[in-house]
Amino acid sequence: MPIPVHDPHHVPGTLKRLPLRKAAVLFIVAVCLCLSGLLYLQLEQSRRQDLAVAQVASSNLTRAMAQQAEDTFLAADLVLTILVDWIEDDGYGAAQKPRLQKTFARRVQQLEQLHGMFLFDSKGQWVITSYPDLPIGKDVADREYFRFHQQNASRKAHIGRAIRSRENGEWIIPISKRVNDRAGHFQGVLMTGIKMSYFDRFFESFSLDDKGIMFLGLTDGTLLARRPFDENLIGSSLAQGSIYQTLLPQAPSGTAMINSVVDGVERLYGYRQLASYPLVVAAGTSRDTILKGWYDRAFQSSVIIALVMLGVGLFGWVFIHQVRDGERIEKNLRKAQQALEQIATHDSLTGLANRRLFERSLEIEFARGARQSSPLSLIMLDIDFFKRYNDAYGHVAGDHCLTQVAQVLKACCQRKTDLAVRYGGEEFAVLLPDTDINGALAIAGQIRRSVIDKHIIHSGSPTEYLTVSLGCYAFIPSGNDDPEVFIQQADAALYQAKNAGRNRAAVLSMDGAIAELMRSDR
Ligand code: GH3
Ligand code: MG
Ligand code: MG
Repeated sequence: MPIPVHDPHHVPGTLKRLPLRKAAVLFIVAVCLCLSGLLYLQLEQSRRQDLAVAQVASSNLTRAMAQQAEDTFLAADLVLTILVDWIEDDGYGAAQKPRLQKTFARRVQQLEQLHGMFLFDSKGQWVITSYPDLPIGKDVADREYFRFHQQNASRKAHIGRAIRSRENGEWIIPISKRVNDRAGHFQGVLMTGIKMSYFDRFFESFSLDDKGIMFLGLTDGTLLARRPFDENLIGSSLAQGSIYQTLLPQAPSGTAMINSVVDGVERLYGYRQLASYPLVVAAGTSRDTILKGWYDRAFQSSVIIALVMLGVGLFGWVFIHQVRDGERIEKNLRKAQQALEQIATHDSLTGLANRRLFERSLEIEFARGARQSSPLSLIMLDIDFFKRYNDAYGHVAGDHCLTQVAQVLKACCQRKTDLAVRYGGEEFAVLLPDTDINGALAIAGQIRRSVIDKHIIHSGSPTEYLTVSLGCYAFIPSGNDDPEVFIQQADAALYQAKNAGRNRAAVLSMDGAIAELMRSDR
């Protein structure tokens, strides 16, 4: 182990250690964040993909539904148009009735979607139907489609809200046309009913999930047909739902994720308004069904990532603990090393530097002084009549006295570069870099007075107080000077101080002669 050196110019702790524990925590947090981020991105992307695929499917489904509805109504419309033209040209008198009845029956037979064909006069009374016998019972003057044509001169086909046939109770969607006389007055209504079961069968032909919905409605929101079939809902209004309120006003077709007004289930709806008829078709697949596969994948991926993060976390925990233990051991070692350094370089009684540190410091200060051409001073100090003190008060008191003198030295060495040393026994040294002889003498005087000021009673001394003698020496190092000579010179000055009567500081000039011997009473 290298002996630590008193080097006040050295700045300790410049080599900074990597904060390994912080770095490990940051690394683990970063890994976990990255994993979570990747998981989120991957899941979000696959969720979007699933929704996009479902959107395309939904859009295709509604296109097929719209086409089927359009074909169904168009075929009925064409039949009605031809028959209305006939009736308007030939009338529906007794002569025409058999032929018309046969034609009605044939058309209903030809088009499977048709429930029946019915002609009503201007009062709503049954005139001809596709059935061989006229139904007995109420007229249809109260029916919505009849009143519509009665009050409305439009020649276009009218699609009414779903009703139960008065013929056989079957649910039908009435499509009807106004019949005029030659003068253009209301003469009656030709109506055909489209079997709702026809749409039901068509709707059923698609595979849909349990919560899936398909419906056909009027543009005013009236529900005509629906899968799953619910009798109570037929004829009810969907006008307050998002499709009618928000989506249809924006675009005649599209897809959107919305909550159903009927059952509150969130679905991806595809909707389309027919170009030729006031009809709207829509199909909705529940979000849960669309994302079922995604939920499973998300769960699996999340479990895997969670396990990986747990592993990383555990590893990190162990690692951080090991680093912490290592740091603690290292700290203890450092402390032990510092304590050893202190023991090896300092005197245990006084806490001052010992000779070992003094010698190393001399080397350094000699070199520095030579480099910078700055003076280096040394004060050698010896307690006066210390043997007598020990004899009078005992060694323990003597030790205490040494400690007090050491305190004085410490207090007087104010510069960081000054070094107070216990040279041996009751002899001390003070190394003063960058200090000339005047400075050294000033400090020596200060030390001498401070010891007196301690008022340590010493019956064996002529002054009756404990005093010290000091020898000062200063020189500018040249580069190859001998430390021993340097010490000897200061020692010689000390010897002179002793000889001159003690309790004083003596100075030795640079050429080795005693230049000044002073009784320092300052
Ligand atoms: P002088 O004025 O000429 O220096 O007289 P002195 O009695 O101080 O000189 P001397 O060198 O004869 O005596 C030194 C004494 O210091 C001898 C020894 O008992 C005492 N001494 C040396 N080291 C220690 C120490 O560590 N503790 C104590 N209590 N006394 C010590
Ligand atoms: Mg001595
Ligand atoms: Mg002495």
